[in-house]
Amino acid sequence: MITKNISAAVKELNKGNIIGLPTETVYGLAGNAWDEEAIKKIFNLKKRPLYNPLIVHIKSIDYVHEIATDIPDIAFKLANAFWPGPLTLILNKKEIVPDIVTAGKDTVAVRVPNHPIALSLLQEIDFPLAAPSANPFGSISPTNANHVYSYFKETLPVILDGDVSKSGIESTIVGFDKEDVIIYRLGSLSRETIEEVVGKVKVLNEDNESPIAPGMLSRHYAPEKDTFVTNDIVKFLSEATSKKIGLLSFNEEIEHPSIMHQEILSKSGHLVEAAANFYAALHRLDKSNVDIIVASYFPHKGIGIALNDKLKRATKKE
Ligand code: AMP
Ligand code: MG
Repeated sequence: MITKNISAAVKELNKGNIIGLPTETVYGLAGNAWDEEAIKKIFNLKKRPLYNPLIVHIKSIDYVHEIATDIPDIAFKLANAFWPGPLTLILNKKEIVPDIVTAGKDTVAVRVPNHPIALSLLQEIDFPLAAPSANPFGSISPTNANHVYSYFKETLPVILDGDVSKSGIESTIVGFDKEDVIIYRLGSLSRETIEEVVGKVKVLNEDNESPIAPGMLSRHYAPEKDTFVTNDIVKFLSEATSKKIGLLSFNEEIEHPSIMHQEILSKSGHLVEAAANFYAALHRLDKSNVDIIVASYFPHKGIGIALNDKLKRATKKE
């Protein structure tokens, strides 16, 4: 059921059930992070491999002490700058965090979401919420309550409706080596914005296929339709005239007889706006009556780098 009733969500969570949770990045499948049985339900619903740890959502910076220990000063600097917001910190976990949440690691991924409904909900429960994105493993992430409903239907007793996710792509995941900052996964907080606060940071090798951050696995966030990405749409179209094509374009409208459905992410050419529209546009293209989806690369700066990374993962075939 899609609802704005926070009390209904609290009731389900207190019973150990899983709900659909709006956040500013994407919608999550949320359960009591302290409850191993609840977390098992999340993994089963998503068909997510158990080696893939979850992000734990907390209500405030102060609460981080309940879940993590030996927190580097630089982590607090980042948390103070960007929480609530789309930044996930990898910190040493306290014993209370069940192994299933962290896939057996000594570290836990944690953030304060910047969404009024998620924050109100977190105020009304006495545990944090483990929540991966509310999509079956490997498919397109959800950015509104209807996306979540179309994946899970009534198996979720409550899907909280928090309108459209404003950031629209996943959080940026950051870890630490003493006081050094390492970006594990690019997301809606750009490297440049992080560097304004803490100086130069390292970005983990994007070709690294290790499950340290499975958002980095080679195929992820993928539509069901065959999807291609190109730097030269006009050339691509001239070579693929017989197909019905769905086009995902950053800012320009392209005229071509093969294009049956066109999504322009930001007519004014703003990457932040494009990110907010990205997954919803992919969902529409995947449902539309086209044979293939063709996307153009984004300008390779700011959030454009994270978006290009997601495009590559949507298109790479196993
Ligand atoms: P999702 O919620 O589906 O975007 O996935 C959460 C991401 O956080 C996954 O890519 C996880 O691998 C990553 N993550 C969670 N916990 C850890 C951890 N302890 N160390 C490294 N990455 C983590
Ligand atoms: Mg995900």
